[in-house]
Amino acid sequence: MTNCLFCKIIAGTIPSTKVYEDDLVLAFRDIAPQAPTHILVIPKTHIPSVDGITAENSAVVAHIFEIIPAIAKAEGLEKGYRVVSNCGEHAGQTVRHLHFHILGGRELNLEMA
Ligand code: AMP
Repeated sequence: MTNCLFCKIIAGTIPSTKVYEDDLVLAFRDIAPQAPTHILVIPKTHIPSVDGITAENSAVVAHIFEIIPAIAKAEGLEKGYRVVSNCGEHAGQTVRHLHFHILGGRELNLEMA
């Protein structure tokens, strides 16, 4: 998608601090971290949000969830971490390319909102 911020990050036209990359996914540090460790994991294919996950494209989501524990381990998040995906306006999704936040490095509050 030409006008998608995260597609531009995947293409390398917008810089990012890369944490992990393979053929299917990219992980990079959030530009405005909400915790000592704040990483975004995204599919390289453009899926707008959780709402866009289908039987045809869900393999990449499974792959993302295989990669997340490896990233958490590499980041030293042995005390735990949170995985969040905001979907749509009420959830505050600001970038319309599916992404999973990994948050950790401190005790996170228990509220979900
Ligand atoms: P969300 O609000 O769930 O859609 O999350 C979007 C996230 O993308 C926010 O946490 C932003 O701080 C982050 N973000 C926006 N632009 C960039 C960028 N150029 N590089 C890294 N993270 C970004």
